[in-house]
Amino acid sequence: MSENRLPTPAAIADQLAPALGREQLRLSAPLAPYTTFRIGGPADVLYDAISADALATAVATARQLNIAWFVLGLGANILVGDRGFRGLVIRNVSRRVEFHDHGLVRAESGTVVADLIAATVARGLSGLEHFVGIPSTVGGAVWQNLHFLSPAPARERTVYIAEVVRDVELLDQSGARRVVDRAGMHFGYDVSLLHEPGNVALAASFLLQEADSTAMHRVMQENLSWRGARHPWLDYHPSAGSIFKKIEGVGAGRLIDECGLKGFRIGGAQISHMHANIMVNLGGATAADVRSLILHAQRTVADRFNQHLEPEIGMVGEF
Ligand SMILES: Cc1cc2nc3c(=O)[nH]c(=O)nc-3n(C[C@H](O)[C@H](O)[C@H](O)COP(=O)(O)OP(=O)(O)OC[C@H]3O[C@@H](n4cnc5c(N)ncnc54)[C@H](O)[C@@H]3O)c2cc1C
Repeated sequence: MSENRLPTPAAIADQLAPALGREQLRLSAPLAPYTTFRIGGPADVLYDAISADALATAVATARQLNIAWFVLGLGANILVGDRGFRGLVIRNVSRRVEFHDHGLVRAESGTVVADLIAATVARGLSGLEHFVGIPSTVGGAVWQNLHFLSPAPARERTVYIAEVVRDVELLDQSGARRVVDRAGMHFGYDVSLLHEPGNVALAASFLLQEADSTAMHRVMQENLSWRGARHPWLDYHPSAGSIFKKIEGVGAGRLIDECGLKGFRIGGAQISHMHANIMVNLGGATAADVRSLILHAQRTVADRFNQHLEPEIGMVGEF
């Protein structure tokens, strides 16, 4: 039977060490602190990729050694299982940003969008400020085409990050590094070329417009106030944002709300009192609690409205 046993974290680290450096590898590292839900068991091996090259090397090495791998941004759109992840989790902290002429900005994919907004707005460059208050890396933002419904009546529409993406530097499934332009990224609602397994974003270039900084600050203020009034505050109520995909013309949150589920709780996980499509960790919630709550909301809404709620967040690792 012993030949069927999974390799231990130490054995996985032994394989990775020559390429990634032994001192860079953390064994059995809890993932909860690296997610906005603050939930999740350990990664066998956790590695911080501090540059696009380091990210590419980590993915290529894991592939070559046939070790399961996962690229982690800010962990704002995932639920990590209580038993954690078997293999290598690559925490993307590659954050180099370059400013070029004519509003062109290149950011490594681990750049935190909030930092990029601050840096671009400070230079009078507009296009990213709409996404203020949304936790994301550049890679995570490209992965799901970060979007936000602009609340100001004069500008009411969904704004997508794809609108300002010029191109993305990818490590593709074959291990090749190539630059893919916006059209080639196949951006849609909650989707991009990154959803094809094995594609990793190393960096993205944005084309921004010069604009009046007062106008940009007004947009940011409006968006932050809108969020503050409707969403639970992440510092006190860890969450992964919206749990279920939107249902066109109906609203997943509205259906859950109409079932009277706001405030409903299983273990440490609760459907937020503020927003029915957001589940919060009241402290000590497990992934199992969240999964049970998801199932409960799905069943209740299906029974009452005959509508299927489809999770928007990614399920990562073993539950
Ligand atoms: C309070 C709150 C509010 C939110 N509001 C919004 C909102 O208004 N609009 C919105 O669109 N989203 C929202 N979200 C969801 C979340 O912010 C986005 O999905 C964000 O883009 C996730 O980025 P991340 O870096 O945390 O990705 P992660 O959660 O770390 O990863 C998500 C997925 O992207 C993949 N990924 C990450 N980086 C890369 C890369 N470099 N290459 C390939 N794949 C990669 C991961 O492997 C994973 O599959 C909200 C979340 C929270 C917690």
